[in-house]
Amino acid sequence: MRKNIVAGNWKMNTVLEEGVELASQVNDLLKETPAKCEVVICVPFTHLVSIKGVIDEPLKLGAENCSEHVKGAYTGEVSASMVKSTGASHVILGHSERRQYFGENNEMLLKKTRLALENGLTPIFCVGEVLEERENGTYNEVVKAQVEALFELTPEEFGKIIIAYEPVWAIGTGKTATSDQAQEMHAHIRKVIAQKYGVEIADNTSILYGGSCKPSNAKELFSKTDVDGGLIGGASLEAESFMGIVKAFD
Ligand code: PEP
Repeated sequence: MRKNIVAGNWKMNTVLEEGVELASQVNDLLKETPAKCEVVICVPFTHLVSIKGVIDEPLKLGAENCSEHVKGAYTGEVSASMVKSTGASHVILGHSERRQYFGENNEMLLKKTRLALENGLTPIFCVGEVLEERENGTYNEVVKAQVEALFELTPEEFGKIIIAYEPVWAIGTGKTATSDQAQEMHAHIRKVIAQKYGVEIADNTSILYGGSCKPSNAKELFSKTDVDGGLIGGASLEAESFMGIVKAFD
C-alpha cells in the first residue's frame, strides 16, 4: 500500500549554517516523537552534503532539482548522479517555479525523471494548474497532460514516482485548496494513472498536496482518501511548524 509522506521544499532559503541548524532541529524533533509518515527535507544543492552529515534515519534528504543531462559541458548544472553521490534519496522535479521561471517543459522533465530513476533517486514530480486554468475549468485536462508527460516510463519506473499536486494559485499565497478540491484532483490523477498503468500501480502511488499547507489545515487535507501527505514550502522553514504538519498523521 502507498506511503504517507510529508516533504519540505526549502526553495532558495537559508545560508548553509541556518540550513544545517534547521535540519538538525527537524532531526531531533523526529527522534523525540517518531512520525507516522515518511519525512523528507528537500534542500538547496549547496547544503546537501553538510545536512547529510547531521541527520540520520528516518529523516530523508532530497534535492530541489537536477539536470536533464548526464554530465559534461553544462556550466552551473548539477546532475542526478551528483545529487545521488551526496547521500540524497529524493529529488523534486517539475516544480511550478521551475516550469514558470526556468522554462522547464514536459520533454525536459521526462529526461530529468529518467536520469533521477537511473541514479536511484525517488522523484517527487510536481503538477498543478494556474489560477486561470482553475477559473476556466480546464484544470483536469491541464494536470492530466502534465502526468501524461511521464507515460513513456515503464510501469516499473512509474511505480517509483511520488506525485505532488500543487495548484499554482495556492503556492506561497496563503490560499489553500479546500480539502474537497484537493481530493477531487487527487482522485482524478489516480484515475489517469490507473487508465495507463492499472489500478495496482495507481493505488500504490503516493500523491501529495502542496500549496499553503500548514499545521492548522494539514489534518483536514490529509484526512481525504487520496491525499497521501504534503509538499510543504513556507511552513517547512521552521522546524516546529514543519513537525506540526508531520503530526497531522498522528
Ligand atoms: C511549494 O512551493 O512546494 C509549496 C507548497 O509552497 P507553500 O507551502 O509555501 O505554498
